[in-house]
Amino acid sequence: MSPDTPLIDCHGLDVRYGGTRALHGIDFHIDRGEIVTIVGPNGSGKSTFLRALIGAVPLSGGEIRHAPGLRIGYVPQRLQIDPTLPITVARFLCLPDAVPRARIASALDTAGVPDLSHRQMAALSGGQFQRVLLARALLSDPDLLILDEATQGLDQPGSAAFYRQIEGLRDDLGCAVLMVSHELHVVMSASDRVICLNGHVCCEGTPETVSAAPAYQALFGTGTQGALALYRHEHHGHSHDDIDRPAAE
Ligand code: ADP
Repeated sequence: MSPDTPLIDCHGLDVRYGGTRALHGIDFHIDRGEIVTIVGPNGSGKSTFLRALIGAVPLSGGEIRHAPGLRIGYVPQRLQIDPTLPITVARFLCLPDAVPRARIASALDTAGVPDLSHRQMAALSGGQFQRVLLARALLSDPDLLILDEATQGLDQPGSAAFYRQIEGLRDDLGCAVLMVSHELHVVMSASDRVICLNGHVCCEGTPETVSAAPAYQALFGTGTQGALALYRHEHHGHSHDDIDRPAAE
């Protein structure tokens, strides 16, 4: 795969659910090593867009090109596991296919939860659970990590810690990251590029460009810019003491 080839390149993407047009005319690309965040109100097509990119929903128009041999790791919004089901983290990571123990250990380590292998899935905190899902996505040694509101159910410090982890992964592994988040103040400054979606691309660019764009402000107001500055301050202070806070549920 040439380093200049976009990992994903798509043009004129249209998705319909029966009579509902969820996405129309989306042009998008993501390059190696980029962190791109999709923001948009509820129902604006964010999940549909990610699912279209991984081939989980059919297109009604447009085309998507994946770089040859592209490996994608997908972290879903949530995963329901029967709390009465006795299953350890290591067993969970071996579903559906067995994975060597050393790879499991390495993925958990990279996801920031090195000691969870023998823990029961049902006993994990929200933050630990999401990191196990992240470890599962890392098992495929992805060129691109796709995360769909991966911090739902976490409190804000927990989410901030999770996204710092993601940024670190990009730096360490060189994988690109495409994520959806409603936590604009947390994710925006970690992103190279932000795309504001509302059925179509309303605006896109650096976090600063997008948070100042009239289309973005019409959807989200102007409050995010202050939060962006606050997060940036905390972020550059590298406060990591909240990494394993349990979920606020
Ligand atoms: P978001 O992730 O931004 O909240 P979605 O992609 O979930 O938005 O939804 C976009 C639009 O498509 C919404 O109007 C939603 O109701 C509709 N939609 C999503 N999934 C389905 C589905 N499986 N069947 C029918 N309509 C759907």
